[in-house]
Amino acid sequence: MGGRRTEEAAHGNAPPKPGPSRVQRDARPEGTCIQVGRVEVGGPGFVVMAGPCAVEDAEQTERTAAAVAAAGAHVLRGGVFKPRTSPYSFQGLGEPGLHLLAEAGRRHGLPLISEVMDASQLPLMAEYADILQVGARNMQNFTLLRALGKVRRPVLLKRGLAATIEEWLMAAEYVLDGGNEQVMLCERGIRTFEPAMRNTLDLAAVAYVKERTHLPVIVDPSHATGDPKLVVPMSLAAAAAGADGLLVEVHPWPERALCDGAQALTPERFQELMRRLPAVLQAVDRHLWRPESPAQLVGVR
Ligand code: PEP
Ligand code: MN
Repeated sequence: MGGRRTEEAAHGNAPPKPGPSRVQRDARPEGTCIQVGRVEVGGPGFVVMAGPCAVEDAEQTERTAAAVAAAGAHVLRGGVFKPRTSPYSFQGLGEPGLHLLAEAGRRHGLPLISEVMDASQLPLMAEYADILQVGARNMQNFTLLRALGKVRRPVLLKRGLAATIEEWLMAAEYVLDGGNEQVMLCERGIRTFEPAMRNTLDLAAVAYVKERTHLPVIVDPSHATGDPKLVVPMSLAAAAAGADGLLVEVHPWPERALCDGAQALTPERFQELMRRLPAVLQAVDRHLWRPESPAQLVGVR
């Protein structure tokens, strides 16, 4: 079992605490499978969530949804509340953006994932989003984590910019402890000494948390690398490392995007990714999620 060093304990401010327990693999050795619409995250099927960083307007949302659905994505992503480094950057469309995302999702039969930045947004977000995303900058927003423990909606918990695995799992523990067991972890790259890429994708953490916990693990290769040329190879590597799915940014016109255009895949490159994933998944005894996945058939019998 990994180290139990928390930031407080490392400085002698608190007695050593027991490590996370509800998230631990022993709590559910068979693993957790989360239902999102008709899609299952954490079963044998590998789930691809794709869409723009931010919902910008009706046409961009529709074009992206149509493209990712046609390529075989399972869940539509799109931020409407954006945690931006600068207060002068585009902050997202808010509720009107959520309506655009919901309409596009309905038209193309895709459930939605969108970020909730604050507990006060939860009633609205829970009404529209099938998965509530907690951003890296909010991983230790304990008020939000507690509030998410009280909702009956799947949560995708991103790893903080500089969070240890222990801190990440403790954050997940807050949500489970509140009574919501539908938590998926998302590795989105961490800050290291390496400036060549936006972040450093910690794929060893993916294999590690898969061993250590029963929670599904998703990889976000877009924020992890910041470079569309690296998104396809790192997505394939994530599939090989045992991830249960991907969260990928796609934009029909990346050069015009209001947010994270530099890392967005074009629809063509996303199609290429979807074409190349099955061979890698097959090598690790997985496949892209499809309705007739064996886990579903078991439920039917
Ligand atoms: C996002 O998914 O657009 C996002 C803001 O990601 P992160 O929280 O990982 O930076
Ligand atoms: Mn983004």
